[in-house]
Amino acid sequence: MKDISEIRSDFPILGRKVYGKQLVYFDNGATAQKPQRVIDSVDEILTFFNGNIHRGVHYLSDMASESYENARQKVAAFINASGKEEIVFTSGTTGSINTIAFSFGERYIKRGDEIIVSHLEHHANIVPWQMLCERKGAILKVIPMNSNGEIITGEYLKLLSPKTKIVAITQVSNALGTIVPVNEIIEAAHSNNTPVLVDGAQGIQHGIVDVQKMDCDFYVFSGHKIYGPTGIGVLYGKKKWLEELPPYQGGGDMVEKVTFEKTTYNHLPFKFEAGTMNYAGAVGLGAALDYITELGREEIAERERQLLSYATECISGIEGVTIYGNSERKISTISFLIDGIHQYDTGMVLDKLGIAVRTGTHCAQPVMDFFGIDGTVRVSMCFYNTRQEIEALVQGIEKVKSMF
Ligand code: PMP
Repeated sequence: MKDISEIRSDFPILGRKVYGKQLVYFDNGATAQKPQRVIDSVDEILTFFNGNIHRGVHYLSDMASESYENARQKVAAFINASGKEEIVFTSGTTGSINTIAFSFGERYIKRGDEIIVSHLEHHANIVPWQMLCERKGAILKVIPMNSNGEIITGEYLKLLSPKTKIVAITQVSNALGTIVPVNEIIEAAHSNNTPVLVDGAQGIQHGIVDVQKMDCDFYVFSGHKIYGPTGIGVLYGKKKWLEELPPYQGGGDMVEKVTFEKTTYNHLPFKFEAGTMNYAGAVGLGAALDYITELGREEIAERERQLLSYATECISGIEGVTIYGNSERKISTISFLIDGIHQYDTGMVLDKLGIAVRTGTHCAQPVMDFFGIDGTVRVSMCFYNTRQEIEALVQGIEKVKSMF
C-alpha cells in the first residue's frame, strides 16, 4: 500500500486548516472525502464531454454515454454483479431503498404481509418500509438488538414466517459500527423463500463486497460514502427481480415505445433510470472505485482495523467515557459519550480544535432509544486517518472534560 503521506496528499481537503487548526476529519461515516482523481474526473466530463446521455448521435452525447456506461461496468466489477444490467444508478442509498420499497411493494405486498427490518437500521431503511406498510396494510417486524449493539439472530429466526415478504437489513450499523452477520440472515431468509435487501451504505467503504457470494437479492449504497460525488448511488438487483419488478418512476429513457394507449418499458437497467441521470456523478464514482481498487481493498480494511483497535484502546482508557456498541465485529467507528457532558458540547469544542466528528442520533433514533440516550459523539475513521489524529482527539476529549 502507498505511504500514508502519499495517500493523504491524494485528498486535497485533508491539507486544509479550520479555525487556524489542522483539520482532523473523523466524519467519514456521514460522507467521505474525495481524492483529486475523482474531482478531476467530474471536472473533465463537465469541461470536455458534456452532452446528455443516451439521447443524441453527436460526439459529446456519445462520449458522455460511453463514460457513464463504463462507470456502470466498474460498479458491476467492484461488487461482483453477474452483469452490468443488474446495476441501476440512483441518487443514493435512500433513493435505492425507496425504489425497491415502492416497486417491490406494488407487485408483492398485500394486507397482512410482513416486512422485517432490524433495530439497528438507519431511518432510510425504516421509513420507506413503514410508508409501504401504511399504503398496503402490511406489518413491520423488528429484529431486536442486545446491549453490545448486535442484532439477536435467534429472535430473527423466530420472526421469519410464510407471511414474511422481504427482509431489509443493514450490513453495518452507522450509529455503532457493528458488522451485521448478513450472510446468516440471507441464508435463513432464502430458506423461507424470502428475498433480502442489504443496505450497504456503511459496509461498502470497509471491505470487499461480493454480491454473488453474499447472495443478497438487492444491495444498495451511496457514491459519496465511498469517496465519490454526492447525488449518485447504486441499486444492485438480481436480474430476475429487476425484470419482474415494475418501474419506480416514469419518464424519458426508461421507455421503449410510448403511445397514449400504451407504453412499453426499456430493458434493464434503463427501466429504472427515468429522466436525465447524474452521469457526471457516475463517472466520479467510477474514478473513486478505481482509486480504492488500486490502493487495495484488503490493505484498506487492515489499516482500518488497526485504527479501530488503537482508537478503542485510547478512548476507552479515558475516565468518564462510555463507548456505545461493543461488538467483536465492528468497522472503524466509535460512538461515545462523556459522563455529564452533552454530545453537542463535546462536538462543538472538538470542532474548534479542528476535529470534525458527528453528534446526534445519526438518523438512527431507535438505537438511541434502546440505550436511553438522545445521541452520541461518533468518530468514524477511514484509511487516510492516522494514529496522530487519534491522539489529537484524545487530547481534545481531555480538554472538553476540563472545560465542563
Ligand atoms: N443507510 C445507512 C446505514 C447510512 O449510514 C446512511 C447514511 N448515513 C444511509 C442509509 C443513507 O444514505 P444517503 O443519505 O447517502 O442516501
